[in-house]
Amino acid sequence: MKIRKNDNVLVIAGKDKGKKGKVRFAYPKDERILVEGINFVKRHTKAMRQVRQAGIIEREAPIHVSDVMLLCSKCNHPTRIGFRFLEDGKKVRICRACGEVID
Ligand SMILES: [Zn+2]
Repeated sequence: MKIRKNDNVLVIAGKDKGKKGKVRFAYPKDERILVEGINFVKRHTKAMRQVRQAGIIEREAPIHVSDVMLLCSKCNHPTRIGFRFLEDGKKVRICRACGEVID
């Protein structure tokens, strides 16, 4: 998957459009990611030992990878991702804006 855990992303669709956040979890099978501070939804929960209280809590829900763009760690621009193979055969991601290897 193009987006991975700990990437910084810019949301380009949905109610959080324009916001930035860090990817906390990636779900490659579903092509979804959980981004810090993005896509809060209300959830009804039961009281559990570790949870403070029952009731309605707000927490992030995963969004689709196509709803975000990667923020390049090198040039700091929202960018599309390309792939390149290194000499040792390793596949790395490259920034289409600045051409730098992101991995
Ligand atoms: Zn870049």
